[in-house]
Amino acid sequence: MNYDTYGSTAVELAIDLANADLGSPDEVQAFLDAHHEWFTGGTALELSGDERASVTATSGLIRQVAVAETEPDVRDRLNDLLALASPHPYATDHDGELHLHFARPDADAVEQLTTTVAMGLSQVVVQHGWQRLGVCAAEGCGNVYVDTSRNASRRYCSNTCASRSTVAAYRARQKI
Ligand SMILES: [Zn+2]
Ligand SMILES: [Zn+2]
Repeated sequence: MNYDTYGSTAVELAIDLANADLGSPDEVQAFLDAHHEWFTGGTALELSGDERASVTATSGLIRQVAVAETEPDVRDRLNDLLALASPHPYATDHDGELHLHFARPDADAVEQLTTTVAMGLSQVVVQHGWQRLGVCAAEGCGNVYVDTSRNASRRYCSNTCASRSTVAAYRARQKI
């Protein structure tokens, strides 16, 4: 699987957004600042209260797609997310390599973010299968992930959770 293309890295932005702690206005703002490279230069990243609420809602929708357990559920939730997107693809070489962006370059921050994550997520799902999204199997984690492994065998959001779970399973066996 080739994850080098923009569409595929856009899914990582979607996963980051779904896993971000967005409980306070500061946290929403911090997410945007930490991902500023995704926005066209000059885009105002200071959001209004309503805009912050839509970022949080989008985060929730991505999570809904990832936790869905059947293809029809994934499809319907993906469509809920896509309904918020305003795709306007254009070619750019801002980073030195020609590639596509999904959102209008002059759209506001929320439109750019929503469109990019909705398109990135749906592209991976339709090209690589709805089972590619999942929820971390580590106890108490709950992060969602996109499985980019060749044989689709991923169960954890990160190496940290994978090794934490291996250690816990080992200790559990030792107790018996
Ligand atoms: Zn780009
Ligand atoms: Zn995890």
